[in-house]
Amino acid sequence: MNLTINNLSKTYSNGVQALNNVSLTIPNGLFGLLGPNGAGKSTLMRTIATLQESDNGEIWMDDLNVLEQKQELKQLLGYLPQEFGFYSKDRAINLLDQLSMLKGISDKSERKQVVEYILKKVNLWDARKQKLGTFSGGMKQRFGIAQALLGNPKLIIVDEPTAGLDPYERRRFHNLLAEIGKEVIVILSTHIVDDVSNLCTNMAIIDKGKILIQTDPGEIIKEFEGKIWEKDITGVNMDSFEKEYKIISTRLFAGKNIARIYDEKNPHDDFKLVDPILEDVYFFTLSNQS
Ligand code: ADP
Repeated sequence: MNLTINNLSKTYSNGVQALNNVSLTIPNGLFGLLGPNGAGKSTLMRTIATLQESDNGEIWMDDLNVLEQKQELKQLLGYLPQEFGFYSKDRAINLLDQLSMLKGISDKSERKQVVEYILKKVNLWDARKQKLGTFSGGMKQRFGIAQALLGNPKLIIVDEPTAGLDPYERRRFHNLLAEIGKEVIVILSTHIVDDVSNLCTNMAIIDKGKILIQTDPGEIIKEFEGKIWEKDITGVNMDSFEKEYKIISTRLFAGKNIARIYDEKNPHDDFKLVDPILEDVYFFTLSNQS
């Protein structure tokens, strides 16, 4: 299946243009929508999930007109919103059973099978009788994915799912998404570059409501080969350095201040050529918008 978004725009009543003529084609697999806070990601996710209206534009899921056929879309959709609320006293297995009833699985033994299958898939089977209030952040997010998987969705939207997870939980969550993404469209909205570089086969960068680039992360990184340079700039006058070079990022490492710059030719001056990473692409793209 393909999700196609054509010329989607949205201006809120306070005058903020959250989406500015967004067009994207999203195939099966894991798609990363990467952008800073306030870029328009949640607005786009909620619009695709038909939870809010856009001003113009169209969204198609193959030949299903998403914005006009909301009920049909809901049959295909699994959604994990940014804020996923539930009653902390519910036990995981009971809540999932209730949610599967709401998704239309009315047969009790079928529900039992589905709930068991999904809890095992997200690795919460052993914790099935625990109250949700006792879950760690990672377990809550995996439960969020479990409820999104009910009803066999063809399109799964997860909005900022790894914020607040520790590295181990994030890795585990990534593995789960990667497995799910083999079969359906998964859109992962995030401001964390590593979420996308580790996982996604396709991605877009969004800022101020505009899609700046849609690409294959591996391909775009190759285009930056031979152009990213590093140098220790501890004690260097930043004003003049900034004027001379296109700084992509700076970081502290072992007490030193290391700058990464973009230059298509060798800048000499003690710079060392380094392998590009997706973060270079991201910062370069954000700083280069017109
Ligand atoms: P992101 O998910 O990338 O952080 P959002 O889609 O939440 O971005 O927000 C995009 C812009 O729209 C921001 O400037 C935000 O303040 C604004 N915005 C979001 N929701 C509303 C709303 N309901 N009313 C007015 N402005 C909003």
